[in-house]
Amino acid sequence: MSYLALTHLEKSFGTLRVVKDFNLTVEKGEFISLLGPSGCGKTTVLRMVAGFETPTTGTISIAGKEVTDLKPNQRNIGMVFQAYALFPNLTVAQNVGFGLKVKGTPRAQIAKRVEEMLALIGLPELGNRYPFQLSGGQQQRVALARALAPKPSVLLLDEPLSALDAKVRVSLRNEIRAIQRELGITTIFVTHDQEEALSMSDRVVVMHEGIADQVGTPFDIYNRPATRFVAGFVGTLNTLDVQVLDAATGRVRLGATEIALARPLPPGAVTLGLRPEAVTLGQGNHDTRLTATIREVDFLGSVIRLRADLAGQPIAFDTFNNSHAAPPQVGTEVTLGLNAADLLVIGA
Ligand code: ATP
Repeated sequence: MSYLALTHLEKSFGTLRVVKDFNLTVEKGEFISLLGPSGCGKTTVLRMVAGFETPTTGTISIAGKEVTDLKPNQRNIGMVFQAYALFPNLTVAQNVGFGLKVKGTPRAQIAKRVEEMLALIGLPELGNRYPFQLSGGQQQRVALARALAPKPSVLLLDEPLSALDAKVRVSLRNEIRAIQRELGITTIFVTHDQEEALSMSDRVVVMHEGIADQVGTPFDIYNRPATRFVAGFVGTLNTLDVQVLDAATGRVRLGATEIALARPLPPGAVTLGLRPEAVTLGQGNHDTRLTATIREVDFLGSVIRLRADLAGQPIAFDTFNNSHAAPPQVGTEVTLGLNAADLLVIGA
């Protein structure tokens, strides 16, 4: 049986339906991300799990016990927020020990646990400092230690990295994941950053207008997007409108090229999605060859991002920098290679 189960969860504020028939089961020790644009309802789902919002309908259970009507402090949940939210007048050690103190844990036991937690987050020397004496990254680590100290059954993280600068974000990402693995704690992480979600998660829930569009591993979400929204939101995607020549066998025309997709299509016109990394400059050993005209060349160092016109439609792709060959010039006609199997059908 799953460890955390959200079943037919709905949340409305007045007439606004913010979360719609949301279902999710999470295994013990899994790291799950809720990924989606601002306003799609991810924080509301997290707040319902924490007990800060009551679902309009639906149930939440943790470790086989229904908690839908329990108060936050009865759920044994640890939470970290976007803003550091440490108590400014308490030291780091007092912050980390706060949850245990509230529970009436004996002092010596608190001191021991605080020491363990500070070691876990790599800040063993900083127990006597105050939050204002810490960097943003250190404050977030302390917030994590504070959430973990009472040994919660589920850890909830609400955009904990979004207030940090880029370098700290990436290193803290890896640290959080390492700590989560070490403790084996079931975790739900809310983010609008697809790279964060893909790099950290066992599974990702892509949310859109209150609905879970797709639940899957990062590999599946990226390579086999279930909806047009997922295809467009996760990663960069070229969209190409093509005319269907033969619906039964999936033959389409893209500019001057006929492509056999080898799968049935609806008749008329369809939109295909194509990841930039599926396109090469030159046909190479790909099965499909297209002709395009270079419109923009962005030299990024190790790679060069090219934007081209393909029969009136824009297409972006990358080529590795080869220091012995200059990149193509704007205005030149080039051959592109791709495999027809890499074309995603994303809309009819
Ligand atoms: P963000 O990344 O911006 O936090 P989100 O995906 O987490 O977005 P939510 O915070 O869950 O989105 O909000 C979803 C929708 O519900 C928004 O339209 C928001 O304005 C609305 N909403 C959230 N809380 C309330 C509330 N207490 N009362 C009324 N509307 C609310």
